[in-house]
Amino acid sequence: MIIVYDKELPDSKPLTLNVIDTHTHLGKEEVVRGKGKDYRIIRPKDHLDFYEKLKFDVFQRITAYPEDYAYSMPEDPKDFSLPATELQKLIFKEKRKTQNLGWFADKIVTFPLHDILQSKTDPNFKKSNDYILTRAQTLEYGSRLVPFCRVNPKDEEKATAEIKRCVDYGARGLKLHPLSEEWIEEIVSDKVIEVVRTAVDNKLPVIFDCQNYKTAEEIHQVAMEVRTQSRNKDFTIIVGHFGFDYLTPGMFEILGDPNIKTETSGMRGDDCEVFYKNCIDLVDDWHLSTMYGTDHSYFSVPQASDHITFIFSNTAKDLGITFEHIRHILGINALRILKIYWPTKVIDRKGVSKSKVVWEDFNKIIECTNYEDLAKIVTDLSEISGVYFNTDSLFDPSGENVYEDLFILNIFADIIDLRRSFVVQHTDDNKLKISEITKLMDFASQITQILEEEDETYPFTQQYLFDYLLHQKPK
Ligand SMILES: [Zn+2]
Repeated sequence: MIIVYDKELPDSKPLTLNVIDTHTHLGKEEVVRGKGKDYRIIRPKDHLDFYEKLKFDVFQRITAYPEDYAYSMPEDPKDFSLPATELQKLIFKEKRKTQNLGWFADKIVTFPLHDILQSKTDPNFKKSNDYILTRAQTLEYGSRLVPFCRVNPKDEEKATAEIKRCVDYGARGLKLHPLSEEWIEEIVSDKVIEVVRTAVDNKLPVIFDCQNYKTAEEIHQVAMEVRTQSRNKDFTIIVGHFGFDYLTPGMFEILGDPNIKTETSGMRGDDCEVFYKNCIDLVDDWHLSTMYGTDHSYFSVPQASDHITFIFSNTAKDLGITFEHIRHILGINALRILKIYWPTKVIDRKGVSKSKVVWEDFNKIIECTNYEDLAKIVTDLSEISGVYFNTDSLFDPSGENVYEDLFILNIFADIIDLRRSFVVQHTDDNKLKISEITKLMDFASQITQILEEEDETYPFTQQYLFDYLLHQKPK
């Protein structure tokens, strides 16, 4: 979460922006660098370090030339990027100090590289997917990493089975890379359509690597075919990097399709202005179709900082980019399309010993009336091997605004029966109200009783939570 001020309203309260990075990688990949073998290695902590550096870079660029920007910074860079919830702030300050950084990004979508492990299994990427999924199932990273799986459509039925397996373990999207896996000539094919349809049927957004207009057109054809085949019409296909093509009018026509979005990784310098100008001129509701991404660590601080500083600039404001547009680009659009984190299985791994916690251990959560107690209980539980947590944002009934004082806290233990979810509400008098949503999918009909009978100030309706879980887009 980042904090800025509107320069035209200097005395107004701070403006908060959720930041979701829709494109990063994790793992180990062989790279060609002159002679001999070399590797690109990306660990979860590298993303946090990257965001810590980005914070200072953006802060410095804007404070060095304040006259160029429509927004101003807090005085101290440490107030510029903050944890999105008080719960994260307390847990990381006290118990996970080495991960207490990089709060610029609230959620970081991450998926395998063209990994050294990918070809070691049939289907490909099984081990790489397990690596991503297990990193998202840790106390350190569970509240920030958003795991996407990756498959090779050339594996056909085995690839679709791998998608379903990853959904069980908590995958929240799918990454496809036609160039790396050498099916760039076969994008519009039954096997690719089948893989995308499987993801869409399971409510996963699908991001394609895309390096030019021709590929984008073919991805669009796949999206149109999937729309006719799938029961789920409310799905999202993401054209990665916007094809690195910010000029071709056809690219913007594709972006006008309600099932297509893009992400902006790799965009740099003047490209940003060209891209946004064409978006505004050529796409209705363009701000709902564009999402922020970095492709860290293929791209790093210079590109990400170019993009962020551009959207805060006077140039962007003069083009017509408003604060509402920025909110959608940086966070809201992505939050709305990511599948809810809802694993039904946990991958066995070393260091996780089973069943040290019992159902009743979580009961203390419901009694917490302030964040200090809640943070203490969550961290006490996490001292027990294999307990982690995740938070999901909730939207107001328009589906356009995140409730800032309200989130779903999902607590998981290594035995998946011990998955419990709570709605945390921050009240005016700085107290908490916590309500359990027990096995919500199975007991959707009881939501009204669970929440509303106890206190009618909860802004949910049964329909709201039902839509949230099933469709991800409350109306
Ligand atoms: Zn990438």
